[in-house]
Amino acid sequence: MESPHHSPLAEDSQPVTLRGKDRQLAEARQLASAAERAKDLAQQEAAVMFRASQSLLLSADPEDTCRRLIFHLSELMPVERSLIYVVDHDLRRIILAAENGAPIDFLYATYADLEDSLLGQVHRSGNSLRASQAGVVVEPLGALRIESADENKPAAVLIVPLAVHERVIGTLTLVNPLEHPFDDHATELILALATQAAASIENARLLNAESERRRIARVLVQAGRRVSSSLRLDEVPGQVLEQLGMVVPYERASLILRDGTALRIVAQRGFPDDERMKDLRITLREGDVFDQVAKSSYPIIVDDVNQTPGWKQVEWLPLNLSWMGAPLYSVNRVIGMLSLTRREASAFSQDDALLVSTFALQAAVALENAALYDEITRFNEHLEETVRRRTEEVQRAYQLLEKLDRHKSDFINVVAHELRTPLTVMLGYLGMMRANNLVAQDAYLSKLLEGVLNGSNRMHDVVNTMLDVARIDSQTLKLQVGVLAIAPIFKRIQSELEMDLRQRKMDFVVQDLDEMPLIQGDVDLLLKVFYHLTINAVKYTPDGGRIIISGERVNDPQAGDSVEIQIQDSGIGIDAEFQEVIFQKFYQTGTVALHSSGRTKFKGGGPGLGLAIARGIVQAHHGRIWVESPGHDEENFPGSTFHVLLPISPKK
Ligand code: ADP
Repeated sequence: MESPHHSPLAEDSQPVTLRGKDRQLAEARQLASAAERAKDLAQQEAAVMFRASQSLLLSADPEDTCRRLIFHLSELMPVERSLIYVVDHDLRRIILAAENGAPIDFLYATYADLEDSLLGQVHRSGNSLRASQAGVVVEPLGALRIESADENKPAAVLIVPLAVHERVIGTLTLVNPLEHPFDDHATELILALATQAAASIENARLLNAESERRRIARVLVQAGRRVSSSLRLDEVPGQVLEQLGMVVPYERASLILRDGTALRIVAQRGFPDDERMKDLRITLREGDVFDQVAKSSYPIIVDDVNQTPGWKQVEWLPLNLSWMGAPLYSVNRVIGMLSLTRREASAFSQDDALLVSTFALQAAVALENAALYDEITRFNEHLEETVRRRTEEVQRAYQLLEKLDRHKSDFINVVAHELRTPLTVMLGYLGMMRANNLVAQDAYLSKLLEGVLNGSNRMHDVVNTMLDVARIDSQTLKLQVGVLAIAPIFKRIQSELEMDLRQRKMDFVVQDLDEMPLIQGDVDLLLKVFYHLTINAVKYTPDGGRIIISGERVNDPQAGDSVEIQIQDSGIGIDAEFQEVIFQKFYQTGTVALHSSGRTKFKGGGPGLGLAIARGIVQAHHGRIWVESPGHDEENFPGSTFHVLLPISPKK
């Protein structure tokens, strides 16, 4: 095919020998055919341009676009050598380089080289550069090796910008032998195709960038989700490094946490399985890269550790030239860093740094959460341990008290039994003495004997009470259950205390007890209960007071169909704080020494067992006993009311 850039006129001119009209005619014909040819060429050119435009428009891959651009250019004109550079000015990087339409695998030039050369001028001005003097053009582009095929021959060079919306994204450089220079028309065509190629490359790049951004966002979301899927402090650091590898590939990585002023390696990946790993330490020295990371808010990249002054390489670790350290931030505080290495130099880009720092934010949150959770767990464990220890202590104390209580019960039991035998003997002899006429006739002796007899009876009561409490404690209390009425019990008590009540000028009122239903129970034991309660009412009520006994049938949620007996006095009353403890054995309010010793004397002494026995017996009947009183007051005598609830037929 004929190359359209050759001037048709120059090529077709030939000597003219015709004369006159013929000559004119011939000239006219020649002109016409030249015009015809020029038209053909222009049509061919237009066809090529049209095809090229379509082809460039359809290309979705920048490398392919370069190939197509050069192919279509050489359809239009001879091109000896071509170079395409596409650059990213922000990252100051060459992102694509092609020679004669094919990608260049190994680049001599850097972005800075381009900027320093004529290409930089084109970047900045956006205008094409054309030269046909070898010396002028080749020299400044030395680093780019733009030369004609034969180094010694002068060359014609054309550099056109690859521009998108007035923004230069790269250059197309064409080199031809001097015989094929780039004239204005050719330059225009080249510029037109270059602009279309630039648009196509930019589109593809935007598309790629968009899908890359999406991929990265997906990776980051996934990585973030994975690192926060665990709360265990022993798992999270390993997961952080695993996910970091998904975000930015590395050869070796470690997760380093700050421990005061020192750094502690808490997880590693890609390190050799070596004994010496255990001793691997990182020290924080003022000004070194770790210190810089600790102080910075953004990752620090070392392109080549060999070129970094003060870099300490662990000699038994394989040498990795690139290093990146990213701070782990938590609430405005650097808690540690991620350290990554790659074998080759300059392996980490600013994009990688951005990704790592984004991931580091998620990692730091996951680490902090795990640390907090760990703290709470440990605190809980500590708390549980403390509770367990305290419970043990309390249990031990309780066991000790129980033992002491058992000793006391045993002691009471032994003493009561030991005292009962001689007491019975004494009472027997005293009875005989009273029956003796000599004594009966002697008023003085009779009085003495009466005193001894009273004391002995009282002692007998106390010993019996002690035996009762011992039985209750050892749970050997046996109920002789029969059907009984409440009223006769109080009649008996009343008649027994008649003398005492009269002496103390007390009213003893029994209300409504005749209406009470019969109940099942041990009549002797229940007599003891009401006896103790009545004696107490008398004891803790001043002379002239009143005791009211009443009862009613109730339906109790626990005990069921029951009777409730109330023994109400107008005595000194009981403070709320003592209303429960008085039912414990040996519990007495006030000082024992102050108690008078009479059985029914006001505030007369007792062993502190009456209420304990009463409760033991009532509970043996599956009933309840409790007291109500506005409080203790020895001037106004608010009184107390003791309640005894007994089921009518206790469940077995
Ligand atoms: P004791 O009467 O032998 O001291 P109790 O077990 O019968 O032992 O009573 C325990 C304590 O309860 C008494 O010391 C007394 O302080 C208090 N108490 C019992 N009944 C009454 C009452 N009706 N009024 C005021 N206090 C009472």
